[in-house]
Amino acid sequence: MEACCAGKGLRLTALRRNVMRALAASHTPLGAYDIVERLAASGEGAPPMSVYRALDFLVAEGLAHRIESRNAFLACAHPHEAEEVVVFLICERCGLTREVGSHAVGRDLAWAARAAGFTPRQRVLEVAGLCARCRESEPGGDSVAAPAAAG
Ligand SMILES: [Zn+2]
Ligand SMILES: [Zn+2]
Repeated sequence: MEACCAGKGLRLTALRRNVMRALAASHTPLGAYDIVERLAASGEGAPPMSVYRALDFLVAEGLAHRIESRNAFLACAHPHEAEEVVVFLICERCGLTREVGSHAVGRDLAWAARAAGFTPRQRVLEVAGLCARCRESEPGGDSVAAPAAAG
């Protein structure tokens, strides 16, 4: 994390670093208030406004993403390219959120947007569903993913 920021020529204040650490330690997106609480619990409490500003900064620098549908934030450890679409796979049951980048989706999206005369500002897709673990714990869950062969 620190090496990545150093590479981008960024200096993180203590608060930004603490917010980043809280995000990086979580596999589910955290709301701003969750972060305020976690910082307070670890003795590094900060006013909510400062936490909001730190989050804005991290998102602007590409160190974190905002998950609009959840009004929450997720740490990002990948460099993103301009045409790449960031796809979030969000488990509706446990909240586990995985980030996958896709150039193919990005190209298709860019093409579709161009055809519509539209200039995308944000290239983020949120896909709701079930994570592997939650699907396995579903009664008979695995059979859903493996349809019986037609014959
Ligand atoms: Zn990312
Ligand atoms: Zn899940």
